Amino acid sequence: MIGKLIYEKLSSRYALNLEDFIAPRLRGLTLFEFTVGVLLSQNTSDENAWRAYRALVETIGELTPTRVLKLSIQEISALIKPAGMQHQRALKIIELARAFIERDIESRVELFIREHGVEDARRFLMELPGIGPKTADVLLLMWFNAPTFPVDTHIARITLRMGFTSRRDYEEIRGFWMSNTPIDLYLPLHLLLITHGRETCRAREPLCSVCVVRDYCRYYRGS
Ligand code: SF4
Repeated sequence: MIGKLIYEKLSSRYALNLEDFIAPRLRGLTLFEFTVGVLLSQNTSDENAWRAYRALVETIGELTPTRVLKLSIQEISALIKPAGMQHQRALKIIELARAFIERDIESRVELFIREHGVEDARRFLMELPGIGPKTADVLLLMWFNAPTFPVDTHIARITLRMGFTSRRDYEEIRGFWMSNTPIDLYLPLHLLLITHGRETCRAREPLCSVCVVRDYCRYYRGS
């Protein structure tokens, strides 16, 4: 399987440091805390997301839906400013807090996974405020330990350059890695690909001459 080969090559090159990623740092917290953290990491660096998350937690103490709803949108915006787009994010966090109070999200997702499968659980999560395909996949993979493959901007770029998909289409890229990777490697391969995108297959001037997966890469063969 090509996903396994890529995993082996990348894991020989990079030592994974979970501190470099926000989502693994949030594991062990409640589902609401985890979801807020992942929501803060959308379209910003993990470092900025982590600063915003810490500011929120340090101010309100325990990050629960009830405590969030005691703050105004302005107060939340000011706290999460390091993540950027603070007003829209604050609104989503408030809507999310309401959704968590109205419904037992955790049990519902677990039930969906158990009785209907991951895809149905994913559709349910994507109906929640601020939760798109990537956030749903991060929640499923990293919080519920359910098999799915989140695709971020690095993974999309690498997949396209390597020639594994022809379009920058989220579902197509996700489907490629899921079909070509053993399930137990979804999480480590996801993190290794992000690391590879940050360090070697950078958006500008990828370092192809030192890339450990260049033998599989269409971009390299054509360059
Ligand atoms: S060979 Fe270059 S373009 Fe291909 S994966 Fe490696 S760094 Fe990226």
